Amino acid sequence: MLKKVDHIGIAVKDIESALKVYRDALGLKHEGTELEESRQLQAAMLDCGGTHVELLQATAPDSIISRFIEKRGEGIHHVCFEVDDIYQTLAALKAAGLRLVDEEPRKGVGGTLVAFIHPRSTGGVLLEVAQKTEKQPSTGSG
Ligand code: ZN
Repeated sequence: MLKKVDHIGIAVKDIESALKVYRDALGLKHEGTELEESRQLQAAMLDCGGTHVELLQATAPDSIISRFIEKRGEGIHHVCFEVDDIYQTLAALKAAGLRLVDEEPRKGVGGTLVAFIHPRSTGGVLLEVAQKTEKQPSTGSG
């Protein structure tokens, strides 16, 4: 059902200073930064051999990222698994008794369908499942 770890989401106060670590010091390839207005955050994706680091910065004081950092400080926010069929996955997880944050998939970063699974069901880790819905454009720079 799960193909691989697609990305690890990390809540940060400031994407630009986090990029100095993840892009400049660690040498990960910055594929782009997207604004997700509906979730009041911006997300920078960095590639590491097909698995990504997703840096998440709040764009509003009541964003989920602001609330997360207030409670727990900067750090790992969620782990995302790639799946082939997100609808089938959500139905299977629900049938297994897991608590879903999203009963229906919604649009995520970079042309994906995503849904979250509640940390109360997963040992305290917010899990995301994502299904790619279109080919990722390969960017020449970054
Ligand atoms: Zn994510």
